[in-house]
Amino acid sequence: MEKKEFWFIVGSQHLYGEKALAEVKAHAQEMTDALNESGILPYRLILQELAVSADKITNLMKEVNYRDEVAGVITWMHTFSPAKMWIRGTKLLQKPLLHLATQFNESIPWASIDMDFMNLNQSAHGDREYGFINARLKKKNKVVVGYWQRPELQKQIADWMDVAVAFNESFNIKVARFGDNMRNVGVTEGDKIEAQIQFGWTVDYFGIGDLVQYVNGVKEEEIDALFTEYEEHYEFDYGSYEREAWEASVKVQASYEIAIKRFLEDGGYNAFTTNFEDLYGMKQLPGLAVQRLMAQGYGFAGEGDWKTAALDRLLKVMSHNELTGFMEDYTYELAAGQEAVLQSHMLEVDPTLASNRPRIVVSPLGIGDREDPARLVFDGKAGDGVVVSMADFGTHYKLLINEVCAFEPTTPAPNLPVARVLWEVKPNFQDGVKAWIENGGGHHTVVSLKLTTDQIITYANLVDLEYVLIK
Ligand code: MN
Repeated sequence: MEKKEFWFIVGSQHLYGEKALAEVKAHAQEMTDALNESGILPYRLILQELAVSADKITNLMKEVNYRDEVAGVITWMHTFSPAKMWIRGTKLLQKPLLHLATQFNESIPWASIDMDFMNLNQSAHGDREYGFINARLKKKNKVVVGYWQRPELQKQIADWMDVAVAFNESFNIKVARFGDNMRNVGVTEGDKIEAQIQFGWTVDYFGIGDLVQYVNGVKEEEIDALFTEYEEHYEFDYGSYEREAWEASVKVQASYEIAIKRFLEDGGYNAFTTNFEDLYGMKQLPGLAVQRLMAQGYGFAGEGDWKTAALDRLLKVMSHNELTGFMEDYTYELAAGQEAVLQSHMLEVDPTLASNRPRIVVSPLGIGDREDPARLVFDGKAGDGVVVSMADFGTHYKLLINEVCAFEPTTPAPNLPVARVLWEVKPNFQDGVKAWIENGGGHHTVVSLKLTTDQIITYANLVDLEYVLIK
C-alpha cells in the first residue's frame, strides 16, 4: 500500500492573467510540500498542472483512472474555476474525490486587501461553484473544510486517504474458503455475485483436501524455525500438558500457518475462511495459525463466513492493520451499571487487539471432533471503537455500524482458554443492543479501535451501501 499516491488538482482559470496563475501555482506547491512534510498524511500528495480548461481536467481524470498507483484526487479551488469545465472529467473519474475547502492565507489582510487580492484568493467563491457540480453529479465526494496548516484538518485528509486506498483495494480482495459455511447458520450466507459487483470481492471455494496437500508438504525444519519464532513472541503456557505433547500440538499449528500462507500466496488470496465442520484430513481446527495470519494482515472469519473475512481484510487495509479484527458477540454482562458484551471466538481472536503479551495455550475445543488445538490467549485493549457487520437482506446488502467503548477486563478468568475483549455499546446497553438486533446485525463482526465511524460511512457511500448507524 505504501506505493499509493494521491493527485492534487488545483482549480483556476485564465481570466486573471499569467502572473496570477504563477502565484496560484507557487501557493499550491507550498501547500503540497507542507502537507507531505506534516507527517500526518499516510500517502504522498502529488501536485498536478493547474486545472484551467476542460481538456486539461478531463485528461487528468483519465490518467487517474488508468494509473493503479493513484488512489484518488484532492481538489482545491484557489480562485474561481468555472464548473462547466469540470463536468466531463468529474463524470469520468472512477476513484474517490476529496474537495479541500481551504484558502492559502489564514486571515483577511485588512490593511492591504484590494481587488487584486480578492480575485487571487477567492476560495469561498470557487468552492461554491465547484461544489454545485459535484452535488449535481451525485459524486459522493468528501468535503473537508478549514485552514490547511492545522493538524486536525490534515488528520481528516489522512483518514479519507486511508478509506480511498481501502476502496481501491476492495477490488483486489480475494477470499479463499476452505470448505463451505457452517450448516444451518443464517448470517454467514450471502450473494457472492452481488458482493463482487458492488464491492469487488472475489470469493472462491476450495475443498479442505486442497489445503491438506499443502500441510503434508511442509518440512520439519520449516516447522522448527517457526516454533523458535513463537518462543520469541509469546509466553508458553503448558497447563496440564506434558511439554512434549504440548509442543507437538503447537507444531501442528505451525505447519498450518506455513501451509495456509503458502496456499494463499500461490493463489493471490488475501483473506480466507475455515469451518470446524469441514476438517477432513486435519488433526486440529486452525487456531494459533489463523491468529498469526490475522496479525500479518490477512482477512479472516470463522464458519465459512466470507463476507466478514472480506470486510476484515478491507478494514485492515484501512487501519494499516492496527487494532482491527474479526470478532464475535458471545456473553452479556448484565449487572446494573456494568452492562457489557464479552467478545471472543472459539479460537481465532485477532492479536492486533492484544493489550498484553499473548500466551500460547493448548486446550480441548469441545466441537469439531479433533485434537486439542493451540491458540493465543490475551486480553483486549481499551479504547473507543467501531464495530461493523455486513448482512445480506436478499434484495441488498446492509452494513450495521455501532460505536463501542472497549475496556480492559479487571477480573481474571483462569478457566477461559480464549482471548477476550470487553466492550460497552453506545448509546447505552439496552438501546444499542436492541437497535443492533432489530436491524438484523449479525454475531460475526469486525471491530476497530483505530478507525472512525466517519471512515466506515465514507466507504459505504463510495460503494452505494445502505447502512444503519447506532451511536
Ligand atoms: Mn463464529
